[in-house]
Amino acid sequence: MRLILLGPPGAGKGTQATRLAKRFNLLHLSTGDMLRAAVTARSPIGLKVKNVMERGDLVSDDIVIDIISERIDEPDAANGFILDGFPRTVAQAEALSDLLDEKGLTLDCVIAIAVEDEALIERITGRYSCVKCGAGYHDVYHNPVVEGVCDTCDGTEFKRRADDNVETVKSRLLAYHGQTVPLIDHYTLRKLLTTVDGMANIDHITEEIAGVMAEISG
Ligand code: AMP
Repeated sequence: MRLILLGPPGAGKGTQATRLAKRFNLLHLSTGDMLRAAVTARSPIGLKVKNVMERGDLVSDDIVIDIISERIDEPDAANGFILDGFPRTVAQAEALSDLLDEKGLTLDCVIAIAVEDEALIERITGRYSCVKCGAGYHDVYHNPVVEGVCDTCDGTEFKRRADDNVETVKSRLLAYHGQTVPLIDHYTLRKLLTTVDGMANIDHITEEIAGVMAEISG
């Protein structure tokens, strides 16, 4: 199964993709994670995109399309994947469609996670994660049970994303409304889109998306 999770920054795409990939044995592909890894590794791509990401702008279509094109050819993508943060422009959606066509593959569905803008800034600026295992937390909604100790792996170091500050979040929301929202019409026209309420409880959202996926996989 191949699907896209679409939604603004802070909608919970990463959280849901992680859970659903595990449950359905799919690969979770996040272009944001891949680009952050490139920045940390100071690779040529990382050096190129670092400032763009810090500003909260989108990196060029060519770069992310190349990354995705290579990654979905890897053996661990054969059983299917959940795309998180890609595509983000109509050009990327068209490139994805061409890539899948070339390989004789299809896109099964697109899930849009809808969240009001007002909720997003608080959600994003409060989030942090465990350095060791990546488990996600939030200053207001979800701190570790024992202060300073990760619930999952007992790690004691936590980090925040460089672009999770108020200024950058505003740019990221502008990019989302200007460049990504047109994908909602794009995939509605292709009868691939299902919208879920991203203001609901996290477990409820997981079950709702899992229900759509179960129906598709028959
Ligand atoms: P994310 O982790 O999905 O919020 O992405 C973090 C940042 O990475 C974005 O603000 C963009 O600068 C960049 N990025 C991630 N995915 C894409 C994409 N598909 N197209 C362009 N830029 C992207």
